[in-house]
Amino acid sequence: MNQTATTLPHASRADSPAESAMLYMEDICHDFGTLRAVDHVTLDVQRGEVVCLLGPSGCGKSTLLRVAACLDELQHGRVMIGGEDMRTPSGRNVPPERRNVGLMFQDAALFPHLTVLENVMFGLDRMPSRQRKATALEFLEKLGMGEQAARYPHMLSGGQQQRVALARALAPGPGLMLLDEPFSALDARLRDRIRDDTLHLLKSAGAGTLLVTHDPEEAMFMADRIALMKDGRILQMDKPQNLYCRPADPFVATFFGDVNRMEGTVERGQVDTPLGKVDAQGLAEGEKALVLVRPEAVRVVVVSEPSSTHRDTHVIMSRLLGRSSLVHICVHDQKNREYHLHSTMPGVFLPRENQRVELHVDPSQVFVFPAH
Ligand code: ATP
Repeated sequence: MNQTATTLPHASRADSPAESAMLYMEDICHDFGTLRAVDHVTLDVQRGEVVCLLGPSGCGKSTLLRVAACLDELQHGRVMIGGEDMRTPSGRNVPPERRNVGLMFQDAALFPHLTVLENVMFGLDRMPSRQRKATALEFLEKLGMGEQAARYPHMLSGGQQQRVALARALAPGPGLMLLDEPFSALDARLRDRIRDDTLHLLKSAGAGTLLVTHDPEEAMFMADRIALMKDGRILQMDKPQNLYCRPADPFVATFFGDVNRMEGTVERGQVDTPLGKVDAQGLAEGEKALVLVRPEAVRVVVVSEPSSTHRDTHVIMSRLLGRSSLVHICVHDQKNREYHLHSTMPGVFLPRENQRVELHVDPSQVFVFPAH
């Protein structure tokens, strides 16, 4: 039941995100019985833009995408595609063939009785038949599936089926793409290549894309903007670099990877931490603060002599991770409490256990929040 489609104020024609966006979702709520899966979400996807819905398992990403695709009922709010309300005045959905939307869902099976080529040609029914075949083959080749064109879906691996489904969604050149974990069945190396090819295909087609992923790296790679969700709500929607460098809350900061956590109290506009005093970033005097510091913001400098006392800042262990090295460090605060912090250093940097070190912190990657 749509409770608000008629009660929400309609945006004005000019300059409204609703009218200019490829997809506009306003105040969407979706319940499964007593469980609220999507909780008052508003978002837009502009033409030529890739927006990633990112968040932990069960936070409501797929439900929101299914509502956008009109695969789940619209219980509350409004969905517009290409400036058009997806509900007719009588309250029914606009039929799928009028929506100009490419869909790829986790459970979107290929047609088992059609070959790979026929599956991709299926959505191209408005083209002359020779052009249909050429276009379908072109997309299959772009996704490395040209040689499998005559096969049937049951003869393909999960990852190959996923690439055919992606080709099927992309080939008609829709104005809006809705993709749910489109690379999840691919192994790491193939995934990198297919992601890269897909990003360029989407960008050259100028489609607006809403892509669901639980992988922060994938979201950073694909997205112009990321909407980070938790418990059915969007916590922050912004460019990837702003989520990473200016997180709106501790969940956002920690979702993108390992962070060092420290607590302290604001005194004269600063918080005393084992890494030194940091700016309280607007917190009130006397307030308890949670200080988060990314490991790559902690630079380790080796001090020549080995640690002479247990309280010195020293190395616990170091490990090469590939392109960077992770150094575990023992530090103490003013009250002599011991902390175990992480630093990631570029390249091969493997100081020995008990090596005495100094730490230098990049203040732009220090985040201070009220400690709850
Ligand atoms: P994942 O990354 O694991 O796919 P998600 O973020 O996409 O998770 P959803 O699939 O949207 O999350 O699910 C959101 C919540 O709604 C979850 O708690 C889930 O168990 C519940 N849910 C989803 N579909 C149904 C359904 N058909 N019936 C009942 N509950 C559902």
